[in-house]
Amino acid sequence: MPQKAKKIQTIFILYWILLAYIIAALIFWFITLNSQNREMSELRKLPFSNTTAYKVQLEKIEDGRQRKIKQYAGEGSAFFLVIMTGAIFVYRAVRKQLKISQEQHNFMMAITHELKTPIAVVKLNLETIQKRNLDKDQQQRLLQNTLHETNRLNTLCNNMLLSSQIEAGGYSTVNEEINFGQLVSNCVEDYVMRYPQRMINKQIEEEVYVKGDPFLLQISVNNLLENAIKYSPKETEVVVRVGKNLSFARLEVEDQGPGIEDEFKKKVFEKFYRLGNEATKRAKGTGLGLYLTKRIIQNHGGNIFIENNTPGGSTFTVQLKIIA
Ligand code: ADP
Repeated sequence: MPQKAKKIQTIFILYWILLAYIIAALIFWFITLNSQNREMSELRKLPFSNTTAYKVQLEKIEDGRQRKIKQYAGEGSAFFLVIMTGAIFVYRAVRKQLKISQEQHNFMMAITHELKTPIAVVKLNLETIQKRNLDKDQQQRLLQNTLHETNRLNTLCNNMLLSSQIEAGGYSTVNEEINFGQLVSNCVEDYVMRYPQRMINKQIEEEVYVKGDPFLLQISVNNLLENAIKYSPKETEVVVRVGKNLSFARLEVEDQGPGIEDEFKKKVFEKFYRLGNEATKRAKGTGLGLYLTKRIIQNHGGNIFIENNTPGGSTFTVQLKIIA
């Protein structure tokens, strides 16, 4: 656990102790006042015990006592409400801070690894090409691998920069007519080149037009393709479909990977969220891709959801408003 998170947790424990103390003091205060009230009224009753006005006085004193009980209960409840409102407010703020701190820690760990690995691979590959006398085939293989790593770095940097720009409201989007079928087709072609050993089955209707920012939509499609390839076994097929109906353009990316259980189908779109399964542990990632993809699609007035693929794996579906 990072130092900051530990500190927040200690403050959290102290906060609970303090809150328990305040509530205990409040209850103690109520009980004490109440018993004082009872004793006072008993004392006030004494001088009248043998007089004829005994009953009238007794009722008056009893009324006074009841009024005081109501006053204490009212004031106590108001005080209790104020304390609890403040407590809930502080509790939420601290919990949010703790979550952010944990996410930042996970993110920093992932990012450091994600940035260092491709740089190290690229450096090693280029040094090998420079120092050794390699034949053309070996050189090609190393160059292919280098290209793959730089593409990964590029995706990562785009995701990181865009996330912070979109969150800060600093990215101004373009709104132009896009041939969505063509855009997806180009993305798939790029992946076919990058992963020549993978089977990518393209079933794309080319004349599907939407309005939006081509750069952002391309990033979204690339993230879905990247995940389908990354999380499914090498020998399985990835299917990419683009179609349309009267109102929507529809993109489906199907893989035969481990799939995503129902309870996590929403969670995977949260920032930095990564599943704890084996496939995720093996693959590299930061948990930013789907978060960003969802934000982009929603900013385009569309939606994205996950379904189970048959016999196994996931289907990511994107729907965007179509233009006639
Ligand atoms: P990253 O891939 O960098 O970890 P994403 O935001 O793209 O981040 O995905 C979040 C998580 O959702 C991944 O870590 C993985 O656990 C899960 N996931 C995403 N796509 C798939 C998929 N096609 N099949 C199975 N799990 C997936």
